[in-house]
Amino acid sequence: MKRIKVNLDKQSSLSHEICIGHTILDRIGLVIAKGNLANRYTVITDSNVSALYGEEILGVLREVNLKADLIEFPAGEVSKNMDTVLTITRELINRGVDRSSALIALGGGVTGDITGFVSSIYMRSIPYIQVPTTLLAQVDSGIGGKTGIDLPEGKNLLGTFSQPRAIFIDLRFLETLPDDEFINGLSEVVKYGIIDDVELFTLLEGKSDAIRDRDPDILQTIVERSCKIKKGIVEIDEKDIGVRRFLNFGHTIGHAIEAASGYTVTHGNAVSMGMIATARISEKMKYLPSDDRVRIQQLVRAAGLADHVPTSISTEEIISKTRTDKKKEGDSIHFVLLKKIGTPFTNGSVEEALIRETIEELKK
Ligand code: ADP
Ligand code: ZN
Repeated sequence: MKRIKVNLDKQSSLSHEICIGHTILDRIGLVIAKGNLANRYTVITDSNVSALYGEEILGVLREVNLKADLIEFPAGEVSKNMDTVLTITRELINRGVDRSSALIALGGGVTGDITGFVSSIYMRSIPYIQVPTTLLAQVDSGIGGKTGIDLPEGKNLLGTFSQPRAIFIDLRFLETLPDDEFINGLSEVVKYGIIDDVELFTLLEGKSDAIRDRDPDILQTIVERSCKIKKGIVEIDEKDIGVRRFLNFGHTIGHAIEAASGYTVTHGNAVSMGMIATARISEKMKYLPSDDRVRIQQLVRAAGLADHVPTSISTEEIISKTRTDKKKEGDSIHFVLLKKIGTPFTNGSVEEALIRETIEELKK
């Protein structure tokens, strides 16, 4: 089991560890017991993950004499709302969960976001632990302490910055993950290669078959490297006011495509289209060499991700959603562009005509 320290403040009260390994769930009990975080632990999980791993995690916690129970909510992004928050909160109150308790998020990004949010507001906040079970949550959303829920007006509009006390990444969870969910998470790994790590990018290019076959060794390598990159950026800019913006590479256009499709395009595919579009824009603005743009496009395709924008999605709708993306400041959109693979930079704005032309090209 690898342990990576996330150093967040000088007092280190918010600092915590990421534990990564294959089949480490059975060790979680001991590590948690040693941490002596709380008198009781409530696992929050969705219906799918509960059926697969609910009993197992309770067994592991109880084995080391920790008081543990579990609350389940219906799987899916539709649950990421205030109703679920209130249902979980009432259940916690009914069961007598108090300020000496902690929550454990067992699941994908949806579970992590809801659990982190509830824990940050329940009785003026109680601790929580992340046990991410999707590739997306293991390499991205499970790290960094962003929590949130959706409103009818948009995604993640209510939320907090609230760091987990520990993150346990068991690669064995990925064995039961459906293919499309696995590929969904790969887009963020590709993103890390593009914004921070040419070596990772080259590794992904060379091992794309083994990755799609979920070879355990290669998974360990790419998940670990991704976690290190994410945690390194979060350490410098926890509250997302500076370099954390680089993590948004491909996401300005990606979020717009996701929204314009009525969320029928997955986050991973939308971000992939966004990354290719942004690489093309960087190329057209004479920042990025063509060879690098071609490599990005080829890697996205080799990973099984979308490299074209469906013609059914209106370009004007995408443009208008790009304008309303919440990362906008004033009138200028902070676009993360590329100088080369591994070297991103932010530029005040990109002309709408250039975005339009690029999206139209990606529809062909
Ligand atoms: P994401 O992690 O992509 O943000 P979710 O939390 O909704 O999104 O997880 C995606 C789907 O995968 C959900 O239906 C969830 O129940 C399911 N899931 C999560 N982890 C696993 C796993 N290890 N094995 C099988 N299915 C899983
Ligand atoms: Zn993303």
